[in-house]
Amino acid sequence: MGAPQPGKRTPLVSRQAGQPDTIVQVGEVGFGANRVVLIGGPCSVEDRDQMARTAAQVAAAGATMLRGGAWKPRTNPYDFQGLGAEGLELLVEARRASGLPVVTEVLDPRDVALVADAVDMLQIGSRSIQNFPLLREVGASGKPVLLKRGMMTTIDEWLSSAEYVLAAGGKDLVFCERGIRTFEPALRNTLDVGSVAVLKDITHLPVIVDPSHAAGDVRYVAALARAAVAAGADGLLVETHCAPDRALSDSAQTLGPEDFADLATSCRAVARALGRDL
Ligand code: PEP
Ligand code: MN
Repeated sequence: MGAPQPGKRTPLVSRQAGQPDTIVQVGEVGFGANRVVLIGGPCSVEDRDQMARTAAQVAAAGATMLRGGAWKPRTNPYDFQGLGAEGLELLVEARRASGLPVVTEVLDPRDVALVADAVDMLQIGSRSIQNFPLLREVGASGKPVLLKRGMMTTIDEWLSSAEYVLAAGGKDLVFCERGIRTFEPALRNTLDVGSVAVLKDITHLPVIVDPSHAAGDVRYVAALARAAVAAGADGLLVETHCAPDRALSDSAQTLGPEDFADLATSCRAVARALGRDL
């Protein structure tokens, strides 16, 4: 029990004595640098117009990276599963038009090469945190990896999953806290801001927070985002859509353009109060 004792079992992700923070570079975006990285975009890639509009709104708010899911890990098999390879092409188009680097989830080890070729950063979703063949495959791809915390994983287990990626050859890994399951049903998950402080201490890698999947409700996303920046997060991953009511997945937690811009403004104020920027 107690704080994880880093080091022996996770030597590559643990901070060695005196080791400085690692900055993970994704194009011109530096995770772990002074500027808090804001990533925005829809839960799912839906069509060309949605991606073009949303990407423009994300950039206008001052975000420097774009997200969007082409393969969606849905609990129910009859829910929208994402556009797959077609969605990947739409992401590439939006990347070209907006100039924003792109992160997207890869669900299947067989798709890693295809996705790694197309985008700038590979996301491992909560539900895949202990898919060990997938972790090895993304590590071997050499692409930067965004590793979401599993909804039921301890920090120690999360570190071990990150170690799989680095042991397979990956160098650039960013942790993403997105809330865990607790007894509390008022929000979709319970945001563990404490994990940000712990990981910033015991690892040398950057840590970002996804307040959208933690809150599950647009009313609470900005408050959790500000708490994350205050706790020392190196970035935020926020779901936003040009028309959130029409989003095909995670509509209830997806911010419209104005709310997204407001979130950026208030989080920037928190970052500046702490000597950072956003
Ligand atoms: C997502 O980012 O859209 C997603 C599915 O997140 P998570 O894996 O954290 O549930
Ligand atoms: Mn989502």
